[in-house]
Amino acid sequence: MGGGFVSLKDYEGEIYTCLRCGFCQAGCPTFRHTLNESLNARGRVILAKLYLTGQYTPDEDYMQRVLSCTLCDICKVKCPPKVEVAEIVEALRSELWRSHRDLYPQDIVESINSILERQNPFGVPREQKMRSYEGESSVLFFVGCSSSVYYPHMAENTLQVLRALGLNPTVLGQEEPCCGYRLVEMGAVDEFKRVASEVVSFLENRGVELVITNCPTCYKTLKEYYKRYTSLTFEVMHITEWLVKEAKFEGELSEPMTVTYHDPCHLGRSMGVYEEPRQLLESIRNLKFVELPKSREESICCGGPIRALYPELASKMSDEVVQGAIEVGASQIVSSCTTCYRSIASSAAFHAEVDALDLPTLLARALRRG
Ligand code: SF4
Ligand code: SF4
Repeated sequence: MGGGFVSLKDYEGEIYTCLRCGFCQAGCPTFRHTLNESLNARGRVILAKLYLTGQYTPDEDYMQRVLSCTLCDICKVKCPPKVEVAEIVEALRSELWRSHRDLYPQDIVESINSILERQNPFGVPREQKMRSYEGESSVLFFVGCSSSVYYPHMAENTLQVLRALGLNPTVLGQEEPCCGYRLVEMGAVDEFKRVASEVVSFLENRGVELVITNCPTCYKTLKEYYKRYTSLTFEVMHITEWLVKEAKFEGELSEPMTVTYHDPCHLGRSMGVYEEPRQLLESIRNLKFVELPKSREESICCGGPIRALYPELASKMSDEVVQGAIEVGASQIVSSCTTCYRSIASSAAFHAEVDALDLPTLLARALRRG
């Protein structure tokens, strides 16, 4: 629908566009692993309609059905009239956050408070973010909370690659704000607008002209969600876009390696960045690239967004990705997303023949001819 945050009422037409055909069952991962129609896209459209027409008072079961949607958007790929189910779910959550906040799991409430108070969704002190680096003031490498707190090596490797290719961006470290995605994901839209406006002012005041990030979620949030209601004075690029468009990346591995690539929902289906990661992989000598059975638009969600709330369901989703990689003979599943990496690694840990590998680490290694 685009253009500003809209209420569930604004999606009424979209809700009635649903034909109830059920084609979305072929894509929706939360349906596929439960065979529960209320955990399918069609079921969630019906839940939204029931709320809109006042025929159902939300309870904990209702919340589970709404909150277990990963917003992966594959239902739209399968849907003949292209119903925007993920946007309907987002709008429904924004109603629920206003009217039934008491039904939200405590984990989510704490995560939201943590963004507002500590500039990260994990409840950890801001001081646990990675160190800062002084570089060109107009170019910012926006690390993202997940990498900054849990996987600083991914950020360090990204920085290494950028510097080797002639770019020396600034890294804000503890000063880096949270992009606020969790807020909009869970329906805390008013809080999100406030955070987004603060982040934009903060970056503008620092004279930032280009933001490069390796986090698909930060990328989508800064580039798409922020733009829904404000205009940005800086450009936002995913690291893979910058490396392909602005640099000439070439690398080599010391040993042959067969890798596959998992398209993160936020980078692929949401933002259409499919080619750049593949171009980078194909520019590495001694690397054989094989596609997953389901890739690009059809890529399977790793379950990352719901892992904390519904770990069993999320594990079934990441297991499916890993099984696909084993099927095509890959020894490494490369991801350009920390959330996907974490999910895939947790499933890959049960299989000796395959492992998860983050793209920045692979690129840094290929530059070193390692
Ligand atoms: S966005 Fe993903 S999880 Fe949510 S209804 Fe659509 S396919 Fe299912
Ligand atoms: S595929 Fe689309 S139109 Fe058909 S039931 Fe699912 S959401 Fe509705």
